[in-house]
Amino acid sequence: MFLVLIVEDDAGIRGVLRMLLESQGYRVVDAESAARGAIEARNHRPDLVVVDLGLPDQDGLSVIREIRRFSPLPILVLSARTMETDKIAALDAGADDYVAKPFSAPELLARVRAALRRNSRAADQLPLLRLGPISVDLTKRCAQGPAGSLHMTPLEYRVIESLARNAGMIVTQNQLIREAWGPDRLGDSRGLRSYIKMLRQKLEPDPRQPRYLITEAGVGYRLQTDEPV
Ligand code: CA
Repeated sequence: MFLVLIVEDDAGIRGVLRMLLESQGYRVVDAESAARGAIEARNHRPDLVVVDLGLPDQDGLSVIREIRRFSPLPILVLSARTMETDKIAALDAGADDYVAKPFSAPELLARVRAALRRNSRAADQLPLLRLGPISVDLTKRCAQGPAGSLHMTPLEYRVIESLARNAGMIVTQNQLIREAWGPDRLGDSRGLRSYIKMLRQKLEPDPRQPRYLITEAGVGYRLQTDEPV
């Protein structure tokens, strides 16, 4: 049974989160301050941390940084701050994903599942991606569509691979660029955008209304795979 640590100062939201997570079979511990959150993370070694950014003692970013000093466990930010710069700061500090308040329960739970899946996926194990009628084998680097095999360039595979390792979660533009091109191209969001556009032409049923390669405006991209119900 997965253990989730909630770091949130609002008692109402804390209660709702606890109820929601427990209803799905997760165990829950909670903390109402940044300092307490860091202590509980060390004491309980949770499988996932959900952290608010606006905390009474310190910024939630300090909890993220503190946890990253000793653990790669998945961290999901739940915050009312919705500026792109806040999202990027949280992801750069080491958070894996970002959910805006007010949140929808199904969306939050989907992100929790995605974050827990990422953690249980072995680093060298690449999933067979299914995007509707298209399947992408990242290990063999081949793809099949309804009309037969689908050609993708090595660079396109690297972009998809980076997204797939974090399936369901935000990947920042610079993270994608670093993993697909290397550090020399950091900041080239225009170049990245044109690659995403090409990938959508190949993988999306309707490239103008992406269902799988989702844009997180100003922050990055998210690969939304079909979840088993
Ligand atoms: Ca708060």
